[in-house]
Amino acid sequence: MNEKPEKFIDENGLRLDGRRIDQIRDINIKIGVLERADGSCYLEFGNNKIMAAVYGPREVHPRHQQKATRAIVRYRYNMASFSVEDRKRPGPDRRSTEVSKVSREAFEKEIFTELYPKSAIDIFIEILQADAGTRTAAINAASLALADAGIPMRGLISSCAVGKVDDTLVLDLNKDEDNYGQADMPIAMSTDGKITLLQMDGHLTPEEFKDGLEMAQQGCRQIYELQRKALLDHYNNTQKEIIQDASTESTTEEESTEDPAILNNVPDNGDISNDNEINEDIPDKEEEEGISDENEDDIVSDETEDDTHE
Ligand code: ADP
Repeated sequence: MNEKPEKFIDENGLRLDGRRIDQIRDINIKIGVLERADGSCYLEFGNNKIMAAVYGPREVHPRHQQKATRAIVRYRYNMASFSVEDRKRPGPDRRSTEVSKVSREAFEKEIFTELYPKSAIDIFIEILQADAGTRTAAINAASLALADAGIPMRGLISSCAVGKVDDTLVLDLNKDEDNYGQADMPIAMSTDGKITLLQMDGHLTPEEFKDGLEMAQQGCRQIYELQRKALLDHYNNTQKEIIQDASTESTTEEESTEDPAILNNVPDNGDISNDNEINEDIPDKEEEEGISDENEDDIVSDETEDDTHE
């Protein structure tokens, strides 16, 4: 661990890592990095390196956790042994349990859980390298992994911390500022400006609290723009790849150099299937499987029964 610095902010108003007091650390985002997860994101926030994986909506195990009217959201924050300077003992501890709880609560109201009764949405966070602000960085990654998994949400959740060093408010604390600073206040915010997480260590005056909150909200808005851009870039590129594949196949299989008809069939969302053809070939699923109104009623009554166990 570094020694406590004499001063955190120099005469030019710059911090020890060269940032202005209202400047967040650099963020790097990669979406859809894990093949086996439904959604994933690798995110670097300064020297923090974080992997988020999302599974679901899927069946709930153990079953007694399931809710009849909505999906449950589970969040597991885990620090790898090698993520910190001295090896961390593997497995959950009080801190990771607390971080998991508050982070889950930051997302719960933002996800349309009512669309998936009796199911689970699981968010797994692995901190590969920690350098202060891991819970906020993890929330930013989790938000993108949820979007990548196609989980319907009211918006994205963006998160960063504000703190106090040398009696001055600073945005997004680095490790020394976190260790030796006077206050640390991580927040998470929804796209429409609702605060979904707020914690605080240390001391702030009511005035500082108000200004600090405004500063952190400003940081979250910047992070939101980066998250939004990362999602747009990812899906634009994926769409381009699909179109590219379609045109390559058409040249090899049909030995034609150009077939505009294929590209004309590509709708805006990049889905290259020709719906009309598929609908003609596949028989009505309900008819074939004998799904009737009666069976649907069974499902509803199952839920009603379960309601009484909630
Ligand atoms: P956050 O990472 O969200 O800021 P904390 O304020 O609890 O959460 O932790 C600050 C930093 O302290 C972490 O980012 C990490 O670098 C370090 N840290 C946390 N837990 C441990 C641990 N068990 N061993 C060593 N360093 C740790």
